[in-house]
Amino acid sequence: MKKCKIFFLAITFFTLCSLQLHAQNIKSVEGPSLVIHGGAGTILKENLTPELEQAYHSKLKQALETGYEILEKGGSSEEAVIAAILVMEDSPLFNAGKGAVFTNEGTNEMDASIMNGGDGSAGAVAGIKTVKNPILAAQAVKNNSEHVMLSGEGAELFARDRGLELVDPSYFYTERRKEQLEKLKKAEQSNEEGRIQRWKDWKYGTVGAVALDKQGNICAATSTGGMTNKKYGRIGDAPVIGAGTFANRICGVSATGHGEYFIRSVVAYDIAARMEYQNKSLAEASYGVVMKKLKLLGGGGGVIALDSKGNISMIFNTSGMYRGYMQKGKEAKTLIFKMADG
Ligand code: ASP
Repeated sequence: MKKCKIFFLAITFFTLCSLQLHAQNIKSVEGPSLVIHGGAGTILKENLTPELEQAYHSKLKQALETGYEILEKGGSSEEAVIAAILVMEDSPLFNAGKGAVFTNEGTNEMDASIMNGGDGSAGAVAGIKTVKNPILAAQAVKNNSEHVMLSGEGAELFARDRGLELVDPSYFYTERRKEQLEKLKKAEQSNEEGRIQRWKDWKYGTVGAVALDKQGNICAATSTGGMTNKKYGRIGDAPVIGAGTFANRICGVSATGHGEYFIRSVVAYDIAARMEYQNKSLAEASYGVVMKKLKLLGGGGGVIALDSKGNISMIFNTSGMYRGYMQKGKEAKTLIFKMADG
């Protein structure tokens, strides 16, 4: 009986330790805060060359510094998240903008959204193929239309009317993403369960940013190419306000992971709701949603979040999540794997 108890306690201890490796809570400091992610998924050290690992760290750092400079100068959280996301959308490293993954038909269809917690305004676009920076289209919908979400050709027409930069779809072609599509298709055809699962795991990506400005306003934004090999105009959680993105006066959240699960779990809003209605801290709320609710359903992924005091949460139930944060008087901090692995 005693042995059983010790065994049970040891298991609980190790489970808790391993969950902690995937959850990082950073205490608030006086002044603005910025947190970003570049996607969660099966990101293993042994699959990244040192050069690629370094490239991710420096691009995340560049995104953080670009966004944080705006906050330091008194700019808004909305300007900061847009600036940070533009850096990542323009990089082929991330599954958003230039590095977007391919659909089953060999096209790139992107989703993005933004929500300003200060005034509750929100905008989103889904399934767009020719707007160079989808996050700017989402912001334009938020600021210049009476709608919240526009899709496909209509969204592209709207972006063109707003003077946003349009590009030929070939701009989004990258060899690396094309290869990922081909491998996934092959694996699906050969119907080898293990290989399919492996490639399924590799499909996540997405970029996101959440900021708190000097005025105390929070803004959250997310941009993605969705999931490799998506079919039939599939749209994920990234452009769904409340699922992939949410912000109010209490907190802001941007998610990354298997969108279908994030939509059904209303992930971003659920974190805000647990804080508001159950008086949970940001850390408790995001832990409950990502490590319990989502995990139980089988939904892989993670979130970045911050609250009105500037506390930050970065949490994921996958092996890694490209992520980073910056606070007043501190250097940008970037991470990829679970805490123990750096
Ligand atoms: N959440 C995105 C989607 O399901 C994908 C991702 O985060 O990688 O479209």
